[in-house]
Amino acid sequence: MARLSVFSFSALALLLLSACCWADNEQAEDDSELSVSELLERANRNLIRSADEPDLVEGDVAVDSEAERNADPCTSRGCMWGKWTDGKVYIPYYITNHFSSREKAIITRGLESFSSFSCIRFRPSRSSDRDWLQIESQNGCWSYVGRRGGKQVISLNRRGCLYHGTVQHELLHALGFNHEQTRSDRDNHIRVLLENVSSGMEHNFRKIATLNQGTSYDYNSVMQYHKYAFSKNNKPTMLPIPNPNVSFGNAQEMSRNDIARLNTLYKC
Ligand SMILES: [Zn+2]
Repeated sequence: MARLSVFSFSALALLLLSACCWADNEQAEDDSELSVSELLERANRNLIRSADEPDLVEGDVAVDSEAERNADPCTSRGCMWGKWTDGKVYIPYYITNHFSSREKAIITRGLESFSSFSCIRFRPSRSSDRDWLQIESQNGCWSYVGRRGGKQVISLNRRGCLYHGTVQHELLHALGFNHEQTRSDRDNHIRVLLENVSSGMEHNFRKIATLNQGTSYDYNSVMQYHKYAFSKNNKPTMLPIPNPNVSFGNAQEMSRNDIARLNTLYKC
């Protein structure tokens, strides 16, 4: 019988934030033109959280309580998903009946995409599973960071979150990844313009002591938010270094770097 080994993992911290309110760039274009970052912004804009939903930090990262904020729950608990002796990381999931078959197909395609480039294998949950991802349509698109133990909700709202890259983005959070702009070395690659950030949203731009897996900062990461994220005045909140005109935050699916660091983290 295969044996489950659990990695210790000390890279991640959840930051103090509140539910997201992004810049007001009204977008009416074809969805296919929008980046994951823009889709998340649109879907999570002006969310009204119900009492039984977790607080959101960094736009779409869920935390359960005030006590967990500014802490690093992964450090003490080991928030990676375990690897089996066959070298694969099997992650059970359950898709609730909130979705149509077409919507389920989008989610399943996102889940299965990981099989083509990594050792991650999302598989339907069984009654004997202890930890699993439960994919629901709650308010907005959000996920916890890393494995939490037991049932772990990922919200993919039917209105706004059902896109391939958005599914991948939220799954990467559940696998233990944070947003690109929170990387420990981000100050070498982006300049954060706090003077343009909406009041109360500054904490979105705090840094995390991330493990960067030897990969370079990636403007094309599916985890990179766009230039105007959390802007109060339609001016950029982040600018690339050294060339401020380089575009970023435009990914529509996982980049090569996203894939490389996933494979490194899980030793695929
Ligand atoms: Zn996110």
